[in-house]
Amino acid sequence: MDKKLDLSRLTEEEAKHVWEVIQRDFDLRKKEEERLGEIKSKIEKEETKKELLGSQSNLTDSHCIRCLQPFKFLVNSKRQCMDCKLYTCKTCSRYNKKEHGWVCDPCRIRSLMQNKPWHDD
Ligand SMILES: [Zn+2]
Ligand SMILES: [Zn+2]
Repeated sequence: MDKKLDLSRLTEEEAKHVWEVIQRDFDLRKKEEERLGEIKSKIEKEETKKELLGSQSNLTDSHCIRCLQPFKFLVNSKRQCMDCKLYTCKTCSRYNKKEHGWVCDPCRIRSLMQNKPWHDD
């Protein structure tokens, strides 16, 4: 509804009718909201989880996202996946010669499933 209702120009009867329509619409919406509430809260929980993980950048920065081992200079150096931009250790990622960059195992597997040509050596 773009047009604003001018209630002052309505008769009492019409105004009552309008009010009833609004009230019914409001009730319907409330019921719908209650119905969706459960689903919504589930989604919100997932979002919060994602946010929490996302905000732990210091953790993903210092630990391999795959095996959760802490990175150590030279012993277990980190590689940034050029796909998801997260850090993994050497054993959890592969060098992609064609793309000239490291790709973590989860991304590599995903690419394999999408039939991307990969050359491992
Ligand atoms: Zn990745
Ligand atoms: Zn790892």
